[in-house]
Amino acid sequence: MQKPDLVKETHSVDYDAIIVGGGPAGLSAGAHLSQVKYRVLLLDKESFGGQIMNVEWIEDSPGSAAPVSGAVLGSGMVNEAEQCGVHMELGEVVEIESYSGCKSVRCADGRAYTSSLVIVAGGLRARQLGVPGEDRFQGKGMIHCTLCDAGLYAGQAVAVCGGGHAGIIEALYLANHASKVHVIEAQPRLSASAALQERAYASPRLEIRCGEKVVEIVGDEFVTGVRVQNAATGRKELLNVSGVLARVGFDPATDYLEGLLSLDDRGGIVANDRSETDVPGIVAAGDIRTKSLRKVAAAVSDGKTAAMSAQQFLQSLKQEV
Ligand SMILES: Cc1cc2nc3c(=O)[nH]c(=O)nc-3n(C[C@H](O)[C@H](O)[C@H](O)COP(=O)(O)OP(=O)(O)OC[C@H]3O[C@@H](n4cnc5c(N)ncnc54)[C@H](O)[C@@H]3O)c2cc1C
Repeated sequence: MQKPDLVKETHSVDYDAIIVGGGPAGLSAGAHLSQVKYRVLLLDKESFGGQIMNVEWIEDSPGSAAPVSGAVLGSGMVNEAEQCGVHMELGEVVEIESYSGCKSVRCADGRAYTSSLVIVAGGLRARQLGVPGEDRFQGKGMIHCTLCDAGLYAGQAVAVCGGGHAGIIEALYLANHASKVHVIEAQPRLSASAALQERAYASPRLEIRCGEKVVEIVGDEFVTGVRVQNAATGRKELLNVSGVLARVGFDPATDYLEGLLSLDDRGGIVANDRSETDVPGIVAAGDIRTKSLRKVAAAVSDGKTAAMSAQQFLQSLKQEV
């Protein structure tokens, strides 16, 4: 089928730029582009602010020696983007099509928009454990958002699988409500920062179990326990818990981009140091890119870089018309 060149033929794209993902990267890109008067639509499938909205305390935040509340930081970025003129809508993007003069972005509910350029800033999603019981107990004891759900487990025991930064931060938050938090880490030691490990080992409600992994989630209607296996001895043990949080890693949320953009072997978007992908008019920003530093400051910086490249691309289109 002949692909339409809508910009040249009709000059009628809905927006100059559409941003997929309203985390730090997408918001910082949107704020920049709106400030220089481009029409920007930002779509997010859940809420605006990104992952940090569900994190109690953010460390390494520029301008603050002390940790800052994730929700406060995220809301500040959302307000800034709104004030700059970014139009925000909730919607899960399930397809992006690239034509020579325009992009088409389709949401799960059927809404579709066109733009001259797309910035993909959809971040990461938590990796599943891949053990029996995990699918069956979705919504019945599998925890996805600690800030939203911790209160449901007040006075009960829960398990956190994964002893990295995210696992320990979230285990410490759960320990404000739960009677006990089993932290289960397959490696012989935790990989969270020394400061976080110190807090974790000092917490009377955290029981840290390294060298063990969860092999099954058990229950009847709801989760009642996790079966763990010791890596050295092979011995299995049942821990009684009512909730389970999986924090065994994160993967780029790029399923809907397969076949459109170059992705690395983990699904991260391959982009150059100007944030450009191999498709003209599609740039990528934040955690969703192939990168080593996954931090708020890096995502904000990426967003600005993506916006600068976007601006140049949009200017070049104007000159062509
Ligand atoms: C528990 C935890 C603790 C952390 N602690 C720190 C810390 O202390 N300091 C620090 O600097 N960083 C920390 N981080 C990392 C930080 O949160 C990320 O680096 C940062 O949020 C990345 O920003 P982003 O905009 O790239 O992606 P995200 O913040 O992940 O935002 C992506 C957004 O895109 C949306 N989205 C995804 N797919 C679609 C789609 N198809 N359609 C529409 N919307 C979509 C998502 O809903 C999300 O809102 C932590 C992360 C976690 C999980």
